[in-house]
Amino acid sequence: MRKLGQLDRRLFLAGSAASLALSGRAFGQRRGGRAIIVGAGVAGLACAADIQRAGMDVTVLEARAEIGGRARTSRAWVDRPVELGASWVHGLDNNPVRDLAVQSGLALSATDYDNRQIYGESGGLLDRRALNRLDEMETRLTRFAANAPGNRLESECRIRPRGVLDNRLFRLMRLDAFSEAKRRRGLFLLNTELEHEFGTDYENLSRCFWTEGEELSGGDAMLLGGIDRMMQHMAHGLDVRLSQTVLGIDHDRDGVLVTTSSGTERADAVVVTVPLGVLRENIIRFTPDLPDTKQQAIQDLGVGVLNKCILRFGEQAWPNDPEMFNRLTADRGAWAEWVNLSAYGQGPILMGFNAGSYARYLEQFDDEETVALAMEALRGMFGSSLPDPVATQITRWSRDPHAYGSYSFPAENTQWDSRIRLLEPVDQRVFFAGEATSTRAPGTLHGALQSGRAAANAVVER
Ligand SMILES: Cc1cc2nc3c(=O)[nH]c(=O)nc-3n(C[C@H](O)[C@H](O)[C@H](O)COP(=O)(O)OP(=O)(O)OC[C@H]3O[C@@H](n4cnc5c(N)ncnc54)[C@H](O)[C@@H]3O)c2cc1C
Repeated sequence: MRKLGQLDRRLFLAGSAASLALSGRAFGQRRGGRAIIVGAGVAGLACAADIQRAGMDVTVLEARAEIGGRARTSRAWVDRPVELGASWVHGLDNNPVRDLAVQSGLALSATDYDNRQIYGESGGLLDRRALNRLDEMETRLTRFAANAPGNRLESECRIRPRGVLDNRLFRLMRLDAFSEAKRRRGLFLLNTELEHEFGTDYENLSRCFWTEGEELSGGDAMLLGGIDRMMQHMAHGLDVRLSQTVLGIDHDRDGVLVTTSSGTERADAVVVTVPLGVLRENIIRFTPDLPDTKQQAIQDLGVGVLNKCILRFGEQAWPNDPEMFNRLTADRGAWAEWVNLSAYGQGPILMGFNAGSYARYLEQFDDEETVALAMEALRGMFGSSLPDPVATQITRWSRDPHAYGSYSFPAENTQWDSRIRLLEPVDQRVFFAGEATSTRAPGTLHGALQSGRAAANAVVER
């Protein structure tokens, strides 16, 4: 879930090669030949559709038994689809995902992040004074974000990009004050504003590029009805082959040879859209090896984790209207944010979020243990009489062998051009796309989609 957009974020890579690629040039000529797309997520399907439209043959090879990737709807509850990956369109204005969602028949429900209740550690709602203190801290964070060094292209970050936010932010938020209550308020804010957005503890964020990306205006909206319908719409008319794990990509002057778990495919070009986590794990062997600059970029960007714990109850035993429930806690980052799906007309369902090291820690527990921890947190807010859920669904994205994480983040060694180096094609044969290659909107659906379209453009015009 991403909502740092409420902070003043600016484009930090204006004029980059990638933004040129994302400018949406119309296709020039129609072109023959064949392209293979690795991965049937938002980036891969958008890419495949554009290349096919330009006149090339296209095949999409997908490791999973279904399309969608990190846009992943569970239909385990037959009457109620739930999203295990992305849920929101971030920024409704000029957002191609919004258009696709509408064309696919999905409903969009505007989200008001201020429509929330915040509970203190002892259980009750925070009083006005405590809320004011949180607001003051948030204002300081917003100001700091607006002046972050990465926002100035000519800044020291070109010369000395390495390093993490760490103590600067800690001091700025005045978290090193003696008051434990103050410290917890600050950590809560950093957790729900930054750590959920990037999927990592704030200490791991690049001091230069933690405000990377561009915010679309128009507010956010939750996608309702099943994002899988949007993915089916995108895949319509495409040759998508499921359960095909790509293990090798060889290329030379004559073309590309793609090796899967069940054979080989030849093409003129390949577009790799697998998540950064998969590239990190070296599941695909590239021959010749990827250039050093790209390998370095793969290591220099971070892979974050955001997990969901979705609890369905027999009846609703909490307030109906707030869209979010937050909780201050002594356990850093634990169960600090819940989305109230009943406020979106989805019945008595609560969706809890955990990010970064607490999310990774939780992944070692089984469902029963995880739900017990979740219920302890919820009963602290809504009272001990809150009944157990009737059904649960829990994600563990860092253990997903086709993702190894939720999305990319700017880490200690990230450089101003890391995402561009990840994107750069190799010998005009091997192209890259996916959320981690997006400079404008990494970690989002629309960033992934635009990257797929940009890669299609590059393949057709190569
Ligand atoms: C919990 C969570 C919440 C999120 N919330 C939001 C949100 O609210 N709004 C938003 O805009 N974004 C959100 N995101 C981010 C968004 O889901 C992603 O940015 C986007 O879906 C990425 O699309 P992609 O095409 O780049 O990658 P993917 O969707 O991961 O597609 C890559 C595909 O490659 C396949 N693959 C992997 N390895 C191989 C292989 N070896 N061979 C063949 N195929 C392979 C994968 O199975 C996958 O289908 C969220 C993500 C998560 C995990």
